[in-house]
Amino acid sequence: SYFSDLGLAEPILRALETKGYNDPTPIQRQSIPALLEGRDLLGIAQTGTGKTAAFALPSLHRLAADPQPRKPASCRMLVLSPTRELAAQIADNIKGYAKNLRLTVDCVFGGIPIGKQARRLVPGVDILVATPGRLLDLIDNRALTIGRTEIFVLDEADQMMDLGFIHALKRVANLLPAKRQSLFFSATMPKSIEDLGKQFIKNPVRVEV
Ligand code: AMP
Repeated sequence: SYFSDLGLAEPILRALETKGYNDPTPIQRQSIPALLEGRDLLGIAQTGTGKTAAFALPSLHRLAADPQPRKPASCRMLVLSPTRELAAQIADNIKGYAKNLRLTVDCVFGGIPIGKQARRLVPGVDILVATPGRLLDLIDNRALTIGRTEIFVLDEADQMMDLGFIHALKRVANLLPAKRQSLFFSATMPKSIEDLGKQFIKNPVRVEV
């Protein structure tokens, strides 16, 4: 099967063509149609499976199909990643997929001063990739609100737990709006992670690769 069979918009297909991607990977084939319909997703998948495009492509499609003026200190899509390296890599990938769309992408993580990141968020951003600690610092500094998030992605949930982010994630869960689409990914799905997932996703499509 081809990306064009999955229902993705033309500007996204052109970006994939530029990248030289012809065929969707299994997780992309299994996730993209349900995500385009707005379903929640529980994904059991490792890095290297094409997971980033699986969540990014249908999300970009839905955001672009419903253009909205940017709102100060807000984001429309929030992607949480456990480490700055992974966060930066995800943001770079999304920028590539979004290059023919009028959507902005930013990435924030700890270990560097917060001021510049806070200033970049003043006009608002469409897609924000963040690590949990810095996300909450920005929220506590009133540089960001996540109450208007339309699409929420929690990536590498098992790594998040190992790194001690459980309380941070529970705070995030309480700040997100009830009406949203949520995607939850983990390489493994022990009961503790499945229980964490229940705080974020409702009636999800389950995909395991
Ligand atoms: P990920 O699992 O999201 O980290 O993706 C693993 C690698 O595969 C990344 O370098 C992607 O750019 C690449 N990739 C993702 N989807 C495809 C695809 N359908 N065809 C070829 N390469 C892909």
